[in-house]
Amino acid sequence: AERDGETGDMIARRMRLLGPAYRLFYENPLRIERGSGVFLYDQNGEEYLDAYNNVVGVGHAHPRVVEAIAAQAARLCTHTRYVQEPILRYAEAILPGFGGQLAADGHIMFTCTGSEANDLALRIAQHRTGRNGVIITSEAYHGNSFLTAGLSPSLGRRSPLGQWVRQVPTPDSYRIPRDTMVPWFLEQVERQIDDLERHGNGLAAFICDSIFSSDGIYDAPADLLAPVADLVRRRGGVFIADEVQAGFGRTGRAFWGYRRHGVDPDMVTMGKPMGNGFPVAALVVRSDIVAGFGRDIRYFNTFGGNAVAIAAAQATLDILREEKLPENADRVGDYIRAGFARLQGRFPVIGDIRGVGLYVGVEMVTDPVSREPDGALAARIVNGLRDRHVLISATGVHANILKIRPPLVFTTGDADRLLLHAEALLEELAG
Ligand code: PMP
Repeated sequence: AERDGETGDMIARRMRLLGPAYRLFYENPLRIERGSGVFLYDQNGEEYLDAYNNVVGVGHAHPRVVEAIAAQAARLCTHTRYVQEPILRYAEAILPGFGGQLAADGHIMFTCTGSEANDLALRIAQHRTGRNGVIITSEAYHGNSFLTAGLSPSLGRRSPLGQWVRQVPTPDSYRIPRDTMVPWFLEQVERQIDDLERHGNGLAAFICDSIFSSDGIYDAPADLLAPVADLVRRRGGVFIADEVQAGFGRTGRAFWGYRRHGVDPDMVTMGKPMGNGFPVAALVVRSDIVAGFGRDIRYFNTFGGNAVAIAAAQATLDILREEKLPENADRVGDYIRAGFARLQGRFPVIGDIRGVGLYVGVEMVTDPVSREPDGALAARIVNGLRDRHVLISATGVHANILKIRPPLVFTTGDADRLLLHAEALLEELAG
């Protein structure tokens, strides 16, 4: 597709000003000037269907969130060292939804990013247990801080892992038989706990994203994580659910991904959609787990939980609940998966369709028997859909898994538009 000279100049300026670490989406990068609901608009007012943005859960520029942010910014924006009602009201609104021990006596601590929330969770886990070891999945992403980058092998081979970080393989439901998955995974975790005890001072925490997004989007089996949490606790560690991707209704009516697994975590971290784009993130932690840390360590976060962030978070939570968006995520997500399942009959390069709620993974393979990943085909689909004004991306080590994760206000009509373009493109590519 065409690229105008002005956009080309902006890309060159961007490269010079922002440097090499800044990546753009798509072979033909998009210039975006405005968003509304599930749509983005470029400099010419052309509309794009956003089937990718999981930060704006309630939709781009939702008027109620915009109004809440603007009204609070006009009144006051200060930190958490004054007594203020809205932060208490938000905590009371959200804590009961965590279930189990967290709902009974949990605390919520506010940060600005998911990385910071995970960083804090790990510091609390290490303080609590007196140990350093952390177990993650093999393609995990948990953040961009020094500590969390060390828990993020998906940053690439040259990005060092922390010294006491151990990896377990991804629970790949496409390649590992269902009936062996749970015992197999438990054995992997146990082996790494043994290794940490042998070579270090043992296990502080197991942390995972319950939709395994950077690993390649794996939703199942839902009986996987509860026995892992039991094992981790038996061996003296804590279980941290990283809900930055799976939380806030993204994975459906359970609202939190771990609740679909029936786990009662020691800590939960969240971010991304929490303020519908306004930076706000948090850690929810059992009171007994954080008691010693709270006593021994001075903790303060200048912007975490500021009054404007809380206003954005409250409006977002109210909308998610009132508009029953987690239920919509289940309904429309299943509709998209059923649509791809129909396409799979005609296009066997669609190897697997998975996910839960509005988190859809479609794995592209060279052929369904060898199941060999086809990252080149996935890239052609991502770029081809972009040229058809439908925005998605790809994930996994081989970047061969289409990643479809629209705002939760996506309708079945929007899904039809996505599926029609996917079908036409697959026909074109099959030539
Ligand atoms: N955990 C997971 C599972 C994530 O996907 C991300 C962000 N992609 C983070 C943590 C880090 O969040 P942030 O970018 O807000 O620091």
